[in-house]
Amino acid sequence: MGPPGAGKGTQAEFIAAHLAVPKISTGDIFRANVSQGTPLGVEAKRYMDAGNLVPDEVTINMVRDRLAEPDAGDGFLLDGFPRTVPQASALDKLLADLGTALDLVMELVVDDDEVIRRLSGRRTCRGCGKIWHVEFDPTSKENICDRCGSELFQRDDDKAETIANRLVEYADKTAPLVDFYGAQGKLVGIDATGPVEDVTVRAIDALR
Ligand code: ADP
Ligand code: ADP
Ligand code: ADP
Repeated sequence: MGPPGAGKGTQAEFIAAHLAVPKISTGDIFRANVSQGTPLGVEAKRYMDAGNLVPDEVTINMVRDRLAEPDAGDGFLLDGFPRTVPQASALDKLLADLGTALDLVMELVVDDDEVIRRLSGRRTCRGCGKIWHVEFDPTSKENICDRCGSELFQRDDDKAETIANRLVEYADKTAPLVDFYGAQGKLVGIDATGPVEDVTVRAIDALR
C-alpha cells in the first residue's frame, strides 16, 4: 500500500520477480477491462475517471476470481488492493477460506509533493505495461518503451484535478489500513524516497 504515485507498481514488479510470484494489480486489471470495453470496465471507468475508488463489492469479486486462477496457488503479491477496511476484512475471510493468510503488508511512505511530481511525469507502456517517468526514469527515445519498443501513454487519471481527489480518497479510505494491519502485526513501513533500486533493497530486506 501507499498513496497514488508512491511507487507501488514499480516496486511490485521487482519484488514479484524476486519472489517468483504473480503480481496482482487491481488498477492494471481495471485498466485492461476498460480498454477491452468489458461490462466491468464500463462500470469501473466512471469511478476511475473521477479519481474515486471503484465500489468494494465489484473490486472484491474481481480479486476473488483472480485469486482462484492457478498461478496464484503458490503465493502472490497484491498491488493496490485492499484499499478500504471492508476490502481488507473481505480479503482476510477469502484467504482464510483458501487456508492461507497474508504474510506481510508494506506501506511505501513518501510525502505529497513527491507524489505529485511522480504522478505528473508518469508514463506507461501500451505494450508491456512497464512504468516510466519523463524525468526520473526516462526512455532513450521519447515516448517509446526501451524494453519492448511500444508507445507510451499518460494515464487519464494522472491529471492535476483527479490527482487531488485520489489523495483525498487515500487519506479517507486507505490510510486507516495502517492501523488495521498494524494491529495484526503485519505492517512494515518502507521509506520510498530516493532511487528506485534503493527502495527495492529496503523492500526486499523487509521480507526477511
Ligand atoms: P495508483 O497506482 O495511482 O494508486 P492504481 O493503478 O492502483 O492507481 O488504481 C487506479 C484506479 O483504479 C484507482 O484510482 C481506483 O479508481 C481503481 N482501483 C484500483 N484498485 C482499487 C481498489 N482496490 N479499490 C477500489 N478501486 C481501485
Ligand atoms: P475474464 O474473466 O473475461 O477472463 P478478467 O476480469 O479476469 O476477465 O480479465 C479481464 C482482462 O484483464 C483480461 O484481458 C485479462 O488478460 C486481464 N487481466 C487479468 N488479470 C490481470 C492482471 N493481473 N494484470 C493485468 N491484466 C490482467
Ligand atoms: P503507484 O503504483 O504507487 O501509483 P508507480 O510505480 O506508478 O506508483 O510510480 C509513479 C511514478 O513515479 C512513475 O512514473 C515511476 O516511474 C516513478 N517512480 C517510482 N519510484 C520512483 C522513485 N523511487 N524515484 C523517482 N520516481 C519514481
